[in-house]
Amino acid sequence: MSPEGLRPLLQRLHRLQAADTRHRLARGRDAAALARLLAAAGRRAGAGIAAAETILPPPAPVACGPACPFCCHVPVTAAVAEVIIIARHLDPTLAPEARRRLARRLANLTAAGAGLDGDARSRQRLPCPLLDGASCRVHPLRPLVCRAVASVEVAACRAAHASHMVEGVPQVRAHLLAVNAVAAGLEAGLAEAGLGGDIDLALGLAVCLLDPGAATAWLAGEPSPLADLARPPQLVAPQLDG
Ligand code: SF4
Repeated sequence: MSPEGLRPLLQRLHRLQAADTRHRLARGRDAAALARLLAAAGRRAGAGIAAAETILPPPAPVACGPACPFCCHVPVTAAVAEVIIIARHLDPTLAPEARRRLARRLANLTAAGAGLDGDARSRQRLPCPLLDGASCRVHPLRPLVCRAVASVEVAACRAAHASHMVEGVPQVRAHLLAVNAVAAGLEAGLAEAGLGGDIDLALGLAVCLLDPGAATAWLAGEPSPLADLARPPQLVAPQLDG
């Protein structure tokens, strides 16, 4: 089956996620409601991946698994909503010293990438601030952009990492398209509620952890540094037209 065969599924994922986002945000738009919305989007992405791989099977079994951090060394841009919920999860788990360490790491990462374009930042191969050793500290809450990445060849991931992300890693197309469709539906619903936009993960986390009022203000539609830093998302969901 060609990627074209995925079109009805991608359209359905996009439509359902946009509708669910609208419905949930109409009932409440505080952080708890946002967390439930994102958890449901994560479940939809997981189901979408399974359905997409039935239609367009990967060329080999997906090799991604725990403690495999090679792809977590590029700058991550996520929905502002996702960053807020990750910060909300991290906040109570951080002892004062751990909070200081993380804040320092976030500030260093942000400063190291200042003025560089996306490719140049990828070549820096800096670890995601949420890596804890070789594992994602927030794996169940990881952004959709992270869920979209899947490889069938760990050797290719290792080579990409060794090359400072110059070498590419072949992506599992069904996986990528299914998650992108959910992400595009999520963004459509968030944008209608005035909560759309992406932000650099390190920068967004730094803002949320250092200024707890920033997320509350953003959710209420009031002036917030998060609104100043948010950008239109670059993620597109191909094959959704028509
Ligand atoms: S959020 Fe987690 S999965 Fe995503 S890049 Fe960071 S460590 Fe990796």
